[in-house]
Amino acid sequence: MIEVNHITKLYGSQRALDDVSIKLNKGEVVGLLGPNGAGKSTLMKILTCFIPPTEGEAYVNGYSIYDNPIEVRRCIGYLPEQNPLYQEMFVREFLQFVGGIYATKGSVGGEKLNDRVEHMIDITGLRPEANKRIGMLSKGYRQRVGLAQALIHNPEVLILDEPTTGLDPNQLEEIRSLIRSVGKTKTVLLSTHIMQEVEAMCSRAIIINHGHIVDDSPISHMAAGELTAKFHKLTNR
Ligand code: ADP
Repeated sequence: MIEVNHITKLYGSQRALDDVSIKLNKGEVVGLLGPNGAGKSTLMKILTCFIPPTEGEAYVNGYSIYDNPIEVRRCIGYLPEQNPLYQEMFVREFLQFVGGIYATKGSVGGEKLNDRVEHMIDITGLRPEANKRIGMLSKGYRQRVGLAQALIHNPEVLILDEPTTGLDPNQLEEIRSLIRSVGKTKTVLLSTHIMQEVEAMCSRAIIINHGHIVDDSPISHMAAGELTAKFHKLTNR
Protein backbone atom coordinates (compact mmCIF):
# COMPACT_ATOMS: atom_id res chain seq x y z
CA MET A 1 0.00 0.00 0.00
CA ILE A 2 1.21 3.52 -0.81
CA GLU A 3 -0.31 6.70 0.58
CA VAL A 4 0.88 10.13 -0.56
CA ASN A 5 -0.53 13.10 1.34
CA HIS A 6 -0.11 16.61 -0.06
CA ILE A 7 3.48 16.19 -1.27
CA THR A 8 5.20 19.25 -2.71
CA LYS A 9 8.80 19.26 -3.97
CA LEU A 10 10.67 22.42 -4.80
CA TYR A 11 13.96 22.50 -6.69
CA GLY A 12 14.97 26.09 -6.01
CA SER A 13 11.87 28.01 -7.03
CA GLN A 14 10.61 25.27 -9.39
CA ARG A 15 7.65 23.18 -8.18
CA ALA A 16 8.45 19.69 -9.47
CA LEU A 17 5.49 18.35 -7.45
CA ASP A 18 2.64 20.54 -6.24
CA ASP A 19 0.32 19.20 -3.52
CA VAL A 20 0.16 15.63 -4.83
CA SER A 21 -2.08 13.11 -3.01
CA ILE A 22 -2.70 9.49 -4.12
CA LYS A 23 -3.47 6.12 -2.57
CA LEU A 24 -2.50 2.77 -4.08
CA ASN A 25 -3.75 -0.56 -2.73
CA LYS A 26 -2.36 -4.07 -2.77
CA GLY A 27 -3.09 -5.88 -6.05
CA GLU A 28 -3.03 -2.67 -8.09
CA VAL A 29 -0.62 -2.06 -10.97
CA VAL A 30 -0.74 1.69 -11.45
CA GLY A 31 0.75 3.49 -14.44
CA LEU A 32 2.16 6.95 -13.84
CA LEU A 33 1.98 8.83 -17.13
CA GLY A 34 3.23 12.28 -17.94
CA PRO A 35 5.39 14.23 -20.37
CA ASN A 36 9.12 14.65 -19.68
CA GLY A 37 9.64 16.85 -16.65
CA ALA A 38 6.14 16.20 -15.24
CA GLY A 39 7.50 15.00 -11.89
CA LYS A 40 7.24 11.19 -12.20
CA SER A 41 10.82 10.37 -11.17
CA THR A 42 10.71 12.95 -8.40
CA LEU A 43 7.65 11.25 -6.87
CA MET A 44 9.33 7.85 -7.12
CA LYS A 45 12.56 9.13 -5.53
CA ILE A 46 10.55 10.56 -2.62
CA LEU A 47 8.65 7.29 -2.07
CA THR A 48 11.91 5.32 -2.06
CA CYS A 49 13.52 7.76 0.42
CA PHE A 50 16.19 8.90 -2.06
CA ILE A 51 15.17 12.54 -1.64
CA PRO A 52 12.89 14.24 0.92
CA PRO A 53 9.81 16.22 -0.08
CA THR A 54 9.63 19.93 0.72
CA GLU A 55 6.17 19.49 2.23
CA GLY A 56 3.74 16.65 2.84
CA GLU A 57 3.99 13.05 4.04
CA ALA A 58 3.98 9.60 2.46
CA TYR A 59 3.52 6.10 3.84
CA VAL A 60 4.57 2.79 2.34
CA ASN A 61 2.80 -0.17 3.92
CA GLY A 62 1.99 2.17 6.81
CA TYR A 63 5.62 3.23 7.34
CA SER A 64 6.39 6.95 7.19
CA ILE A 65 9.16 8.09 4.81
CA TYR A 66 10.32 10.44 7.61
CA ASP A 67 10.02 8.24 10.68
CA ASN A 68 10.67 4.73 9.27
CA PRO A 69 12.87 5.08 6.15
CA ILE A 70 14.63 1.75 6.74
CA GLU A 71 11.31 -0.15 6.90
CA VAL A 72 10.12 1.74 3.80
CA ARG A 73 13.23 0.65 1.88
CA ARG A 74 12.85 -2.92 3.14
CA CYS A 75 9.36 -3.32 1.70
CA ILE A 76 10.12 -1.61 -1.64
CA GLY A 77 11.74 -2.99 -4.77
CA TYR A 78 12.98 -0.10 -6.91
CA LEU A 79 14.10 0.01 -10.51
CA PRO A 80 15.40 3.57 -10.99
CA GLU A 81 15.46 5.45 -14.29
CA GLN A 82 18.77 4.72 -16.14
CA ASN A 83 18.96 1.42 -14.18
CA PRO A 84 22.34 1.93 -12.46
CA LEU A 85 24.23 -1.40 -12.27
CA TYR A 86 27.79 -2.50 -11.53
CA GLN A 87 28.99 -3.11 -15.10
CA GLU A 88 32.08 -5.09 -14.01
CA MET A 89 30.11 -7.63 -11.97
CA PHE A 90 28.75 -10.90 -13.37
CA VAL A 91 24.95 -11.23 -13.42
CA ARG A 92 24.77 -14.04 -10.84
CA GLU A 93 27.44 -12.41 -8.67
CA PHE A 94 25.53 -9.10 -8.69
CA LEU A 95 22.24 -10.75 -7.70
CA GLN A 96 24.03 -12.64 -4.91
CA PHE A 97 25.50 -9.33 -3.76
CA VAL A 98 22.12 -7.51 -3.72
CA GLY A 99 20.37 -10.54 -2.18
CA GLY A 100 23.10 -10.70 0.46
CA ILE A 101 22.33 -7.13 1.51
CA TYR A 102 18.71 -8.07 2.26
CA ALA A 103 19.42 -11.57 3.62
CA THR A 104 18.92 -12.52 7.22
CA LYS A 105 20.41 -15.82 8.42
CA GLY A 106 21.23 -16.75 4.80
CA SER A 107 17.62 -16.38 3.59
CA VAL A 108 16.07 -13.74 1.37
CA GLY A 109 12.52 -13.49 0.00
CA GLY A 110 11.57 -16.71 1.81
CA GLU A 111 14.33 -18.81 0.19
CA LYS A 112 18.00 -19.61 0.75
CA LEU A 113 20.08 -16.87 -0.91
CA ASN A 114 21.48 -19.06 -3.71
CA ASP A 115 18.05 -20.60 -4.44
CA ARG A 116 16.47 -17.16 -4.54
CA VAL A 117 19.10 -15.91 -7.01
CA GLU A 118 18.45 -18.88 -9.33
CA HIS A 119 14.69 -18.31 -8.97
CA MET A 120 15.09 -14.63 -10.02
CA ILE A 121 17.33 -15.66 -12.93
CA ASP A 122 14.54 -17.99 -14.11
CA ILE A 123 11.56 -15.66 -13.74
CA THR A 124 13.31 -12.77 -15.47
CA GLY A 125 14.63 -14.98 -18.29
CA LEU A 126 18.30 -14.29 -17.47
CA ARG A 127 19.48 -17.92 -17.55
CA PRO A 128 21.36 -17.68 -20.91
CA GLU A 129 23.23 -14.54 -19.73
CA ALA A 130 23.71 -15.41 -16.06
CA ASN A 131 27.48 -16.03 -16.38
CA LYS A 132 28.24 -12.83 -18.29
CA ARG A 133 29.47 -9.49 -17.07
CA ILE A 134 26.63 -6.94 -16.81
CA GLY A 135 28.58 -4.53 -19.06
CA MET A 136 28.47 -7.11 -21.88
CA LEU A 137 24.67 -7.41 -21.86
CA SER A 138 22.20 -5.81 -24.26
CA LYS A 139 19.94 -3.05 -22.93
CA GLY A 140 17.01 -5.46 -22.62
CA TYR A 141 18.99 -7.95 -20.54
CA ARG A 142 20.37 -5.19 -18.32
CA GLN A 143 16.77 -4.14 -17.75
CA ARG A 144 15.98 -7.72 -16.66
CA VAL A 145 18.89 -7.59 -14.20
CA GLY A 146 17.38 -4.37 -12.82
CA LEU A 147 14.03 -6.09 -12.39
CA ALA A 148 15.62 -9.17 -10.80
CA GLN A 149 17.41 -7.01 -8.21
CA ALA A 150 14.16 -5.13 -7.51
CA LEU A 151 12.30 -8.40 -6.88
CA ILE A 152 14.96 -10.35 -5.01
CA HIS A 153 13.73 -9.66 -1.47
CA ASN A 154 10.11 -10.33 -2.51
CA PRO A 155 9.03 -6.77 -1.67
CA GLU A 156 5.36 -5.94 -1.20
CA VAL A 157 5.70 -2.70 -3.16
CA LEU A 158 7.41 -2.27 -6.54
CA ILE A 159 8.42 1.11 -7.93
CA LEU A 160 9.56 0.87 -11.53
CA ASP A 161 10.77 3.95 -13.39
CA GLU A 162 10.30 3.19 -17.11
CA PRO A 163 10.82 -0.57 -16.69
CA THR A 164 10.44 -1.55 -20.34
CA THR A 165 12.83 0.98 -21.93
CA GLY A 166 15.08 -0.66 -24.50
CA LEU A 167 13.28 -3.99 -24.72
CA ASP A 168 12.59 -5.63 -28.08
CA PRO A 169 8.97 -6.67 -28.84
CA ASN A 170 9.43 -10.25 -27.54
CA GLN A 171 11.19 -9.14 -24.38
CA LEU A 172 8.52 -6.49 -23.93
CA GLU A 173 5.75 -9.09 -23.85
CA GLU A 174 7.69 -11.27 -21.38
CA ILE A 175 8.44 -8.41 -19.00
CA ARG A 176 4.90 -7.05 -19.22
CA SER A 177 3.51 -10.43 -18.30
CA LEU A 178 6.02 -10.74 -15.42
CA ILE A 179 4.93 -7.35 -14.06
CA ARG A 180 1.24 -8.27 -14.47
CA SER A 181 1.75 -11.52 -12.59
CA VAL A 182 3.81 -10.07 -9.69
CA GLY A 183 1.29 -7.20 -9.55
CA LYS A 184 -1.50 -9.55 -8.47
CA THR A 185 -0.07 -9.82 -4.97
CA LYS A 186 1.86 -6.54 -4.70
CA THR A 187 1.39 -2.82 -5.10
CA VAL A 188 3.11 -1.68 -8.29
CA LEU A 189 3.73 1.90 -9.39
CA LEU A 190 5.41 2.19 -12.80
CA SER A 191 6.15 5.13 -15.02
CA THR A 192 6.16 5.10 -18.79
CA HIS A 193 5.67 7.33 -21.82
CA ILE A 194 3.94 4.56 -23.72
CA MET A 195 0.17 4.53 -23.52
CA GLN A 196 -0.21 0.95 -24.81
CA GLU A 197 2.07 -0.13 -22.02
CA VAL A 198 -0.35 1.17 -19.42
CA GLU A 199 -3.28 -0.44 -21.22
CA ALA A 200 -1.38 -3.77 -21.33
CA MET A 201 -0.15 -3.87 -17.74
CA CYS A 202 -2.06 -1.54 -15.47
CA SER A 203 -5.40 -1.54 -13.70
CA ARG A 204 -5.29 2.21 -13.22
CA ALA A 205 -3.64 5.23 -14.86
CA ILE A 206 -2.56 8.42 -13.15
CA ILE A 207 -1.66 11.33 -15.43
CA ILE A 208 0.70 13.95 -14.03
CA ASN A 209 1.53 17.28 -15.67
CA HIS A 210 3.72 20.09 -14.30
CA GLY A 211 3.71 18.45 -10.86
CA HIS A 212 -0.10 18.14 -10.65
CA ILE A 213 -2.22 15.00 -10.85
CA VAL A 214 -4.60 15.83 -13.69
CA ASP A 215 -6.36 12.47 -13.97
CA ASP A 216 -6.69 9.22 -12.00
CA SER A 217 -8.92 6.57 -13.60
CA PRO A 218 -9.35 2.80 -13.77
CA ILE A 219 -8.27 1.39 -17.14
CA SER A 220 -11.17 -1.05 -17.35
CA HIS A 221 -13.62 1.83 -17.83
CA MET A 222 -11.78 3.23 -20.84
CA ALA A 223 -12.55 2.67 -24.50
CA ALA A 224 -9.67 1.97 -26.90
CA GLY A 225 -7.72 5.16 -27.54
CA GLU A 226 -9.42 7.04 -24.70
CA LEU A 227 -6.27 7.15 -22.57
CA THR A 228 -4.21 8.59 -25.43
CA ALA A 229 -6.85 11.24 -26.15
CA LYS A 230 -7.06 12.12 -22.47
CA PHE A 231 -3.28 12.35 -22.18
CA HIS A 232 -2.99 14.77 -25.12
CA LYS A 233 -5.88 16.90 -23.86
CA LEU A 234 -4.68 17.09 -20.26
CA THR A 235 -1.02 17.67 -21.05
CA ASN A 236 -1.79 20.46 -23.55
CA ARG A 237 -0.73 18.84 -26.80
P1 ADP B 1 9.86 13.16 -15.15
O1 ADP B 1 10.38 11.95 -14.43
O2 ADP B 1 8.36 13.22 -15.21
O3 ADP B 1 10.48 13.35 -16.50
P2 ADP B 1 11.32 14.62 -13.11
O4 ADP B 1 10.70 14.25 -11.83
O5 ADP B 1 12.63 13.97 -13.47
O6 ADP B 1 10.25 14.45 -14.29
O7 ADP B 1 11.57 16.19 -13.12
C1 ADP B 1 10.56 17.13 -12.79
C2 ADP B 1 11.14 18.52 -12.93
O8 ADP B 1 12.08 18.75 -11.88
C3 ADP B 1 11.89 18.76 -14.22
O9 ADP B 1 11.65 20.07 -14.67
C4 ADP B 1 13.36 18.59 -13.84
O10 ADP B 1 14.21 19.36 -14.64
C5 ADP B 1 13.35 19.08 -12.41
N1 ADP B 1 14.39 18.40 -11.60
C6 ADP B 1 14.47 17.07 -11.36
N2 ADP B 1 15.52 16.81 -10.54
C7 ADP B 1 16.11 18.01 -10.28
C8 ADP B 1 17.23 18.41 -9.49
N3 ADP B 1 17.95 17.52 -8.80
N4 ADP B 1 17.54 19.72 -9.46
C9 ADP B 1 16.80 20.64 -10.13
N5 ADP B 1 15.73 20.33 -10.88
C10 ADP B 1 15.38 19.04 -10.96
